[in-house]
Amino acid sequence: MASFKLGRMVMRSLFKKPATLMYPVIQREWQERTRGHIENEIDECIFCGICQKKCPANALTVDKISKSWTIARMQCIQCSCCIEVCPKKCLKNMNIYTSPSTEKVVDRYVGSPQESKPVPKAAPEEENEAVGEKVL
Ligand code: SF4
Ligand code: SF4
Repeated sequence: MASFKLGRMVMRSLFKKPATLMYPVIQREWQERTRGHIENEIDECIFCGICQKKCPANALTVDKISKSWTIARMQCIQCSCCIEVCPKKCLKNMNIYTSPSTEKVVDRYVGSPQESKPVPKAAPEEENEAVGEKVL
């Protein structure tokens, strides 16, 4: 009985269109909520590193000193954990997949350097001496 059912299923499948697409030759229609790939609006990022700590796939590297945010595309599982925890809401899930590649794709985003703040000028020497005398 089971083999009869299986045979019927095989025969039906022979004349049906395949359920899969020849990706990437044939692109599917992306849905609005497709979890494709993560993008960072790097100018909003404060390099706090929370996304890196929460990433279950270790796909993120944040470097506060060099102001860089790096994602290993082939490690990312599109879980959106990083998006949920980001305090600046600068991460987005785009609805297009990263293009297929034979190599591991790593994307590095670098923030613009902070505007330099004016350094307070040292007081003239005479004033310093005067203060020093007062304290003594
Ligand atoms: S959590 Fe958001 S603000 Fe913090 S480093 Fe990640 S992307 Fe930048
Ligand atoms: S979507 Fe998930 S796996 Fe991908 S970088 Fe964010 S936290 Fe990591």
